[in-house]
Amino acid sequence: MTQVENKQATNDTPFVPIEKIVALCKRRGFVYPNSEIYGGVAGIYDFGPLGVELRNNIRRFWWWSMVQMHDNVVGIEGAIITHPRVWEASGHVENFVDRLVDCKNCKRRFRIDHLPEENVIQNKCPNCGGELMEPRTFNLLMETYLGVVEGERMKTYLRGEASQNIYLDFDNVVKSSRMQIPFGICQIGKAFRNEVNPGNFLFRQREFEQWDLQFFVHPSEMQQWFDFWKEKRFEWYKGLINHKERLHFRAHGPDELAHYAKQAYDIEYKTILGWQEWEGIHWRQDWDLSRHSEYSGQDLSYVDQNTKERYIPWIVETSGGVDRTFLNLLIDAYEEEPDPTGKEARTVLRLHPTIAPVKVAVLPLQKNKEELVTTAKDIHKKLQRLMVSQYDDVANIGRRYRRQDEIGTPYCVTVDFQTLDDRTVTVRERDQMTQVRISIDELPLYLLERVTWH
Ligand code: ATP
Repeated sequence: MTQVENKQATNDTPFVPIEKIVALCKRRGFVYPNSEIYGGVAGIYDFGPLGVELRNNIRRFWWWSMVQMHDNVVGIEGAIITHPRVWEASGHVENFVDRLVDCKNCKRRFRIDHLPEENVIQNKCPNCGGELMEPRTFNLLMETYLGVVEGERMKTYLRGEASQNIYLDFDNVVKSSRMQIPFGICQIGKAFRNEVNPGNFLFRQREFEQWDLQFFVHPSEMQQWFDFWKEKRFEWYKGLINHKERLHFRAHGPDELAHYAKQAYDIEYKTILGWQEWEGIHWRQDWDLSRHSEYSGQDLSYVDQNTKERYIPWIVETSGGVDRTFLNLLIDAYEEEPDPTGKEARTVLRLHPTIAPVKVAVLPLQKNKEELVTTAKDIHKKLQRLMVSQYDDVANIGRRYRRQDEIGTPYCVTVDFQTLDDRTVTVRERDQMTQVRISIDELPLYLLERVTWH
């Protein structure tokens, strides 16, 4: 992984070094290097018990916000492998390339489009000042083969972006779901890119997961829907993070825009790596459906039921990544809080409660008091049906709180001797560490209101 120096955030909160997130993820079971016992594979990761919970929550929250909450949006789940012509039509076979240069001296490799302009002009390595070699071009599509008989096997690709399935299924959705323009199709799914320079942990991987909305509109309404989804997506991210000032839009310059695009924006988040793309909002016009009509020979135009006008719909695309969201949310949430008594610092993940992998931990004050243990287990069993709950009776209560803080659990419920008298428990909140006493009967509703989106 790329080593990066520690810088300061604008508001003087230090940026978290990525190494700390990598270490926490491994230690607590969020993320493991893939095939680690064989030495690992660059740019590919596995997700552990807490990681899978966090990922599921992130995915579900996106799906809920984008599909479930919009009457004019539906979802699909397309296959990873498609007909190879798809990638010719999309332009990926021809244009999905990275131009790379190697430094003759320090041997580091750079993407030309990521180099500062003066280094490109002077042919100078930004790392050591050495001379750069001639640029080389690499296609990022991952090839695979369908069929078993040599000679009859068909070369195709693992999808380089998830969104193509949406264009392929556009006509089927129109005919089978009675959706009428303006409407959108969403999908979450894996994508594969032979990134030549994978790195920065989950930020740039070779196997990752994308989410897309492709929103189909009449050309005359393009600007209005572009603005609508641009704002919606920004607010979505803003609602999930603590450091709001680290989120902004970056407009694509004229030389970055595709020929069909009037405008494009990246939602960017600032970390120790600087400002980096989190999600792209793209003006795709009629490019995709026109290309697939041309390459497949199938007419993908749409007929307006009221006006009888036939046209190729224009598209607003919002395209982001589950993995970058996972990483950015961990970076945003991670904090080492100095202990006022000067002892160990408290590591706390200030994750939004609705996203946190574990919602509540139920802790008996002492594990050698049977009544405390059975009451706590009973509460845990009831809560488990409604949310991810953990029962923990190992070590003193302070250590158990710390363990939960470190994985972002928003609430800890402690069963103590008073519980046995009046059936109340203490609920400790992660961020302020405040405690309230409430009755066991009120507990499920109290927690549900705070840890679920609604
Ligand atoms: P970049 O310029 O960083 O390579 P891109 O512009 O090619 O990204 P898109 O094709 O627009 O990215 O993909 C949409 C989203 O998918 C990105 O905003 C990002 O969240 C995610 N994504 C893209 N490539 C990767 C990757 N290699 N690893 C993890 N997530 C990725």
